[in-house]
Amino acid sequence: MPETLAVGLDLTEEQAQIQSTIRDFVKERVAPRAQELDEKAEFPVDIFQGLAELGFLGLSIPEEHGGSGFDTMSVVLVVEELAKACASTALGYAAHISLGLTPIYLFGTKAQREKYVPQLCKGVDDNGKLTLGCFGLTEPGAGSDAGGTKTRAEKKGDHWLVNGRKAWITNPHYSRTCIFTAKTNPNPPKGKGITAFIAELDTPGFKVEPKEDKLGMRSSDTAQLVFEDMKLPLDAVAGGLEQVDVGFAKFMKTLAGGRITIGALALGIAEGAYNKAVEYARQRKQFGKPIGEFQGVAFMIADMAMEIEAAKHLVYNAARLRDAGRDFALAGSYAKLYASEVAMKTCTNAIQVLGGVGYTREYDVERMLRDAKLCEIGEGTSEVQRLVISRTVLGDLRGM
Ligand SMILES: Cc1cc2nc3c(=O)[nH]c(=O)nc-3n(C[C@H](O)[C@H](O)[C@H](O)COP(=O)(O)OP(=O)(O)OC[C@H]3O[C@@H](n4cnc5c(N)ncnc54)[C@H](O)[C@@H]3O)c2cc1C
Repeated sequence: MPETLAVGLDLTEEQAQIQSTIRDFVKERVAPRAQELDEKAEFPVDIFQGLAELGFLGLSIPEEHGGSGFDTMSVVLVVEELAKACASTALGYAAHISLGLTPIYLFGTKAQREKYVPQLCKGVDDNGKLTLGCFGLTEPGAGSDAGGTKTRAEKKGDHWLVNGRKAWITNPHYSRTCIFTAKTNPNPPKGKGITAFIAELDTPGFKVEPKEDKLGMRSSDTAQLVFEDMKLPLDAVAGGLEQVDVGFAKFMKTLAGGRITIGALALGIAEGAYNKAVEYARQRKQFGKPIGEFQGVAFMIADMAMEIEAAKHLVYNAARLRDAGRDFALAGSYAKLYASEVAMKTCTNAIQVLGGVGYTREYDVERMLRDAKLCEIGEGTSEVQRLVISRTVLGDLRGM
């Protein structure tokens, strides 16, 4: 069989090694459990412990900070492979590394890096309990308009007093730290007044609500965070006190990076559904021949292959730009938007190829479709990506 996907997208030796390791891990430990995890809406603690053993929870963080010293492209490969089998696991992994860990590494002070980053890279404590990271930006009243945050942090003598609520946060029941935004200036100049804080989840006044009951990504952990008179030390400001009121930009930068991993997540889901469709189109017979011989089915498969290939180029390109230290914000939006829409279309058509069985819980394309929908919502909806792209192309025409 000729290679039909990833034509010309060569990996370095190290990246190929990561890909091979995660493929074996997924085959042995993730794929056999994906359907059951979805049915039970159960968070895969043991799979995360396995990822921790592989050193993958700090994959892209330099070794001197407790990570494994690989790159964004390697993270993309891990997310993609996990998502081919279990998108919920891939989402939890992507959120931990891109949102919970990376901003503390990138924007934290030396003391914050030393305090939090090695433990987040390790991902488990001495008792095997997960110590993931989570990221609190969204609020019940501030989603796409994330700057509309209502969570308030007031400076009271030697501490901050935090009150508010965050919504739709990934991984909080399995996290030790959370980096989140709060308003620190009630009447700020435009684009200012929001500060990023780092808090430990066992801080008095910090509560995690029960897990949300979702359409898809059912075994990932999503919940609201509540801050009720939570006291944080003054040095809980990410990046130090000079970063008070200017934390929002950090979160926007973090989201730009996170979009690459959500692109990888969508790509993996699309490939997972495509693989099922190809396998079925080869073996299922109707009218005395494999259904893949019918042009209606074969052309759906051709479109899937072409669109997945295009998505892969966009996602890998965004990762490579980031690894090269170049501007990747627009490339990340292209990747996230396109791959998410390819994932939805591929999953819909994979169900079509499988016919009635594709519509049942017995075959996993139905789960993949439910999981794929999240990619068009999380880390900036498809509409928000189109805003980012069109404003880059047209310039910001607001107020003209
Ligand atoms: C499973 C899951 C996990 C998540 N994990 C996290 C997490 O870890 N941390 C975190 O902070 N957040 C997280 N989120 C939140 C996610 O980022 C938001 O749901 C998303 O940004 C959209 O916000 P919203 O749900 O409030 O929708 P809204 O912003 O209310 O949008 C509703 C609709 O209006 C459209 N819309 C809004 N504004 C515009 C506009 N200006 N132009 C055109 N259309 C517009 C949107 O595209 C959408 O279709 C998660 C969400 C989910 C579902």
